[in-house]
Amino acid sequence: MTADVTWEARWEHSECGASGEALFPDEHAPDSGHDDCAEPGEIGWYGQWACICGAEGDGDWEDGDTADSGHECADEDELDDEDEGVAA
Ligand SMILES: [Zn+2]
Ligand SMILES: [Zn+2]
Repeated sequence: MTADVTWEARWEHSECGASGEALFPDEHAPDSGHDDCAEPGEIGWYGQWACICGAEGDGDWEDGDTADSGHECADEDELDDEDEGVAA
């Protein structure tokens, strides 16, 4: 599960200069809502994701595509079981 990953992303339509921002969970396809534009060209997204475990990264994609961090969080079990194996 990657439900603990949150994206903070920005879209931009370079042909007309419009842009916007969005916050959404991982593995979602955010919608710019910029469908009425008369200008040609693709709307591009660029965003950064962060997980509650502290991992983070970034990515880019075209409008309508799904943003996927590819992050498989390994910390979920460890949160309940903080086993400090090495103590000084
Ligand atoms: Zn536009
Ligand atoms: Zn994580």
